[in-house]
Amino acid sequence: MPAILITGGSGFIGSHLCDKLLSEGHSVTCVDNLITGSRKNVSHIAGNPGFRFIERDIVNGLDDIKGPFDLVFHMASPASPPDYLRHPIETLLTGSIGTHKTLDVATRDKSVFLLASTSEVYGDPEIHPQTETYWGNVNSIGPRSCYDEAKRYAEAATMAYHRSRGTDIRIVRIFNTYGPRMRVNDGRAVANFICQALQGEDITVYGDGSQTRSLCFVSDLVEGIVRMMKSGSPGVPVNLGNPVEMTMLELAEMVIKFTGSKSRIIHNSLPEDDPKKRKPDISRARESLGWEPKVKLEEGLMKTIAYFRAELGV
Ligand code: UDP
Repeated sequence: MPAILITGGSGFIGSHLCDKLLSEGHSVTCVDNLITGSRKNVSHIAGNPGFRFIERDIVNGLDDIKGPFDLVFHMASPASPPDYLRHPIETLLTGSIGTHKTLDVATRDKSVFLLASTSEVYGDPEIHPQTETYWGNVNSIGPRSCYDEAKRYAEAATMAYHRSRGTDIRIVRIFNTYGPRMRVNDGRAVANFICQALQGEDITVYGDGSQTRSLCFVSDLVEGIVRMMKSGSPGVPVNLGNPVEMTMLELAEMVIKFTGSKSRIIHNSLPEDDPKKRKPDISRARESLGWEPKVKLEEGLMKTIAYFRAELGV
């Protein structure tokens, strides 16, 4: 069975990916500096003989980590807006130097390399829904640029290794994803709204709440990532996300309903450069991977609510 390296393997999405790959019988080496990931996310697999955890900032290099690896999943990066706003330089270094260090390992081992990119490469999009052929609308000096430009750089680096060194690469652009193992203080809308609702706190909708997002449950996303890795489409980015779009006000109302909470909705100021709408066009994923999300929003939210209830002890 293939040997696998996952950077950011103890983060929200990375840890679900570790679970899936271990369950398929692969050996998994997870590298994480725990800036936003957590050992708790992988504690249940710590004793699995096929699993190895290395606490390391990938920016400091991976050369001494023994392979060879057949597959490299590059998932490492803060991804929640409050996280990358708190750690802008770390986010830039991870997307740039960290991506080079990870690409160097994949090139050394002749691995297939998969980059976890993001819908943020489209910035505040002028076309809707977003197709992979759209080049984006990113403010290079805005507060979100540390993440958006780091991921755009990571895509450029991945393509450069592919073109000049023949590295076998895949790029997925991940749209908003939610589910168990998001942190309680993660700061993203789903985590904030559910935790606020469960604790009877005001639900903080930013702006008038008319901005839209499209939410994908984590198990669907991980299935898409694994299919992409096994596909034969190097050099072509693929959007992964759920095209069911809603306003953030609708999401807040849904969370109140599903939690049975008495919380009220309040409106706080809208963060600078907050994208007004976002929805993936997933035609390419449907056609090339035979993939589309299966988990309905209500089912995914109920599972996520149950997880946060346990985390908060409420
Ligand atoms: N948002 C909100 N209240 C919160 C957190 C987020 O209204 O407590 C909004 C945010 O302004 C954005 C949307 O919800 O318009 C999604 O934000 P999130 O941080 O989940 O992800 P993003 O898509 O911005 O990366």
